[in-house]
Amino acid sequence: MLKSATLRTRRKLKVLFASSEVAPFSKTGGLGDVAGALPLALRECGCKVAVISPNYASIPEHFKSKMKHVGDFYVPLAWRRLYCGIEHLVHRGIDYYFIDNEYYFARDGMYGYFDDGERFAFFAKALVEAIGHIELLHCDILHCNDWQTALAPVFLREFYSGELYDNVKTVFTVHNVKFQGQYSDFMLGDVLGLHEVSAAVDQLHCDEQSINYMKGALRYSDEVTTVSPTYANELKQPYYGEHLEYEFQRRAESFQGVLNGIDTLLYDPEIDVCLPKNYSVKNLVGKKACKRALQKELGFEDNPDKLMVSFVGRLTAQKGLDLICYGMDNMMSRGIQMVVLGTGDKDYEDSMSYFDERYHDQFRAMLTFDTELAQRIYAGSDLFLMPSQFEPCGLSQMIAMRYGTLPVVRETGGLVDSVQPYNRFTKEGTGFSFAHFNADEMLDAIYSGAEIFWTQQDEWRNLQRQAMSVDFGWQRAADEYVDIYHRLHPEVIRYVTRKSGS
Ligand code: ADP
Repeated sequence: MLKSATLRTRRKLKVLFASSEVAPFSKTGGLGDVAGALPLALRECGCKVAVISPNYASIPEHFKSKMKHVGDFYVPLAWRRLYCGIEHLVHRGIDYYFIDNEYYFARDGMYGYFDDGERFAFFAKALVEAIGHIELLHCDILHCNDWQTALAPVFLREFYSGELYDNVKTVFTVHNVKFQGQYSDFMLGDVLGLHEVSAAVDQLHCDEQSINYMKGALRYSDEVTTVSPTYANELKQPYYGEHLEYEFQRRAESFQGVLNGIDTLLYDPEIDVCLPKNYSVKNLVGKKACKRALQKELGFEDNPDKLMVSFVGRLTAQKGLDLICYGMDNMMSRGIQMVVLGTGDKDYEDSMSYFDERYHDQFRAMLTFDTELAQRIYAGSDLFLMPSQFEPCGLSQMIAMRYGTLPVVRETGGLVDSVQPYNRFTKEGTGFSFAHFNADEMLDAIYSGAEIFWTQQDEWRNLQRQAMSVDFGWQRAADEYVDIYHRLHPEVIRYVTRKSGS
């Protein structure tokens, strides 16, 4: 008899997409955006997709009230046996499953607790366990994302076997290598229950006394990806690899970068209900109204000739906040208006508050997380600043371009892959960039953009149109992921075949 692996069948590939956050239910950054949008595009490519994430207390009530309880069971986690409920909700045609455990997830925030290592070990174990309990979660591909789900491929291979589990191939995507889930190796026995599994003990250790969840996923997953081709190369270098560069080098054959997209329906200035006036690449008049409204909202002079620069993102060293602080006096002296929307490290929040006080007519610090305000800022600004130290992909610069706001970026990671620097000879480009992590270089890039805004309005509009015309939809990335999935399951013939770029 032929082994099932050699039987070629045409059917939908079943993908279970696991993420610790998923928009619109839960989001602290780009990972939530990706988990919210990529599954929709995977479905368009002919996959059957389900998404699994924690049932946080912070999920809005109008979603919670629609969830249906589809099962429960107990999850073994070392000496513990923990309740796990599975709640189900269909949203935009996708099946979402939520892992329910009040002790771990009914808290005010999503991350930042003393027991995060245990909480997400539970999440990873529970989702693998769920595959065996809930028929709708049977899958060919388990696609895990970042350290919070990194133990799932480890648990899957070490604790689960049989036809159902052996069929599951794992893909692990690194969204940010800075966060790896590194803990004392006491956790191996006390939480993970892996202390007697010598292969796992070996592969999870990153030094004598610590274990690293992400390293586990890099060792155990069938395929590893990250969120842009440039970041994939950078991760193999010590400067960017955060001590895992060797792991990425040794996976070279099964490690690639796939550039993220954005949800082009959610971020569409033509239909965005958060904007005071809609506009499109064909008619930019509404963007002027958005800028005026933003200037008023922020308490600035509503003057179309003032250059409005914005920043939306986490206030951390990664995002280049040091360069922004260093360049602030200089920018303010040139009459620029600027708004920063974000939360993060206290030092940077304090610096932003200080600048807000000092330059109150020109600078506003909005130290909050507000997606609607973010959309009004993307639409109402002229330049979007993203001088990141490193940037795995970055979505904000793509969203800004979609709203006709030209990005000023440092040439790193996904910023290289998504922003085409302006070429004053060919007139091509979708933004401005600089190479070194240096505030003077950042200011030069800002002023080369400002110069065009101040002196060549036709050229400026041309650049805006070029930026707005770039296709940042998810289809291209989804096609690349589906190619990976099918490489792992060659016996499944593609249900729908799309060509990249179609
Ligand atoms: P990250 O490194 O945080 O994932 P990305 O650029 O990939 O950065 O994604 C950030 C996402 O989070 C974007 O959609 C951005 O608009 C959103 N975002 C970040 N900070 C805020 C905030 N304070 N308020 C609203 N949205 C925010």
